Amino acid sequence: MKIDPRQIPEEGLVLNGSVPLSDYDIPIGELRGWNKINYQLQAHKVGQEVTITGTLTSNFETPCARCLDFIPWELKINDFCQVLAAPDEALLDLTPLIREDIILALPLAARCELDGAGRCPRSGRVYTPPSQDDFAEKRRATVWRDLDQLKTEN
Ligand SMILES: [Zn+2]
Repeated sequence: MKIDPRQIPEEGLVLNGSVPLSDYDIPIGELRGWNKINYQLQAHKVGQEVTITGTLTSNFETPCARCLDFIPWELKINDFCQVLAAPDEALLDLTPLIREDIILALPLAARCELDGAGRCPRSGRVYTPPSQDDFAEKRRATVWRDLDQLKTEN
């Protein structure tokens, strides 16, 4: 994605659209269904400097780290911000900067959201987290039993 600094008016330039993922050489690994990067950016030029700010989004599917099913994922970078030196004649290439931010925002171990019963909405499998309450409950019971024993002994 290239920007011509000469085309940025004084009040700034709004850039909305999408670019094909294939131009960005991003290691997608096991991700699937990913074909574009959407951008909503603003470009401002002050002297020889251009500031680009805005949002990048992408949608794809990633395997759930818990049950290995694919789950829909929205990658969102709300605070894309780059300050670039802008000599008059040169085009600004945002491609490597966008690429780097996207790679940093990739999900490392995406997980589906379990419902209230600990069930994965995709696979239907139930995952019960180890319960702290159980432990506390048993501990409390033991304490009372010990106290009772003390009473009987006296
Ligand atoms: Zn899952």
